[in-house]
Amino acid sequence: MSTLFLAHTEADGTLAKSALEALAATVQLAGALGTPLSVGLIGEAPGAAADTIAGCGASRFLTISGAAFAQGRYATDAAAAEALCRAAAATLVTVAATSRWNRVLPGVAHRLGGRADTHVTGLDAANGQPIISRWFYRQRMEAVFSRSTRPWLLALEGGMVPAWQGAAGTATVEAVALTPPLARTQVVGFEAPAADQQTIRPDAELLFVTGAGWTKKQADGQVKVAAAEELILDFLRLSRASLGSTKSLVDLGGEGQDILPFLSHLNQVGQTGSTPRHAKGLATCCHGEEPHTVGWRFIGERRAISLDSNCGWARGKADVLYVADAFAVMAKVNELLA
Ligand SMILES: Cc1cc2nc3c(=O)[nH]c(=O)nc-3n(C[C@H](O)[C@H](O)[C@H](O)COP(=O)(O)OP(=O)(O)OC[C@H]3O[C@@H](n4cnc5c(N)ncnc54)[C@H](O)[C@@H]3O)c2cc1C
Repeated sequence: MSTLFLAHTEADGTLAKSALEALAATVQLAGALGTPLSVGLIGEAPGAAADTIAGCGASRFLTISGAAFAQGRYATDAAAAEALCRAAAATLVTVAATSRWNRVLPGVAHRLGGRADTHVTGLDAANGQPIISRWFYRQRMEAVFSRSTRPWLLALEGGMVPAWQGAAGTATVEAVALTPPLARTQVVGFEAPAADQQTIRPDAELLFVTGAGWTKKQADGQVKVAAAEELILDFLRLSRASLGSTKSLVDLGGEGQDILPFLSHLNQVGQTGSTPRHAKGLATCCHGEEPHTVGWRFIGERRAISLDSNCGWARGKADVLYVADAFAVMAKVNELLA
């Protein structure tokens, strides 16, 4: 059996943190399995990146280089990954579960007659065979399993282990020749929201959740969406928290109601939304219903601010419930943070 770790270089020629995390997990696994480790790198000129991980213990560093392989594009990524897997005669292949790798991995497995598993969250070894963990059915069931099909291609989720750190050196690179396949797709650039507009921050310590109450009539009979928007954005700016939402709030736009324009379904937490992982969570103007709070199962410490002392949070779902007006509380919090 032989293990191959695959990565592509970034625009500046380096390896991303996600790649170094996947490398660290692969190094551990290859050690536990007692199998040789190869590294396969794709990029315009990936030799320099190979040098930065020269001390990872790999016995071979295979590269596919050229301008065509610098861009993230199915045709070239899949062809390069396939060629590297064949050159390394790999039976086990790992990549970081980035959108670029998740897109091509099943196709590469098909070309090689192997199998791919994505969203892998744990790696282990028993009796000389690899074992993986992953979640199914929206993180309700964790499966720990192995496969007999080889090659077995695994996309490793971020955060499994710390990024690989070690000595750089001079890697002995074996260049694998590959004529770029005919590619109709040209990558012309990336469009991403400005850092301040990006409200989903998986690395944040705190998840801040907004509920439909922010857009409901308040005690004085008025709807205060503009004030809500200001309070929420100020808090996010001051705290660098990640923004989550209930389904009711993100659905309101479709009903023609006044909405918070910076929220989309990507912010939705819950049964039909996401299941983020943050050390702490603070819910505001949200009722704490089961289909929502089920998305909180990996949040360490849960607090909520609601006017309703009989809400779902009060019934055991929050560690601390503040029965208070979230408009007043968040104004005070922002004042203190500022
Ligand atoms: C199959 C299915 C799947 C679902 N999936 C999801 C999901 O993935 N995620 C999800 O979120 N929901 C989901 N839901 C919907 C879920 O059941 C709830 O309807 C929803 O979470 C309620 O949203 P909310 O708490 O924001 O709104 P509401 O229930 O309207 O609650 C608003 C709360 O705000 C409080 N409030 C109002 N003003 C203030 C104030 N000034 N200060 C403090 N508190 C205030 C009110 O007291 C109230 O408790 C799903 C439902 C179904 C049937």
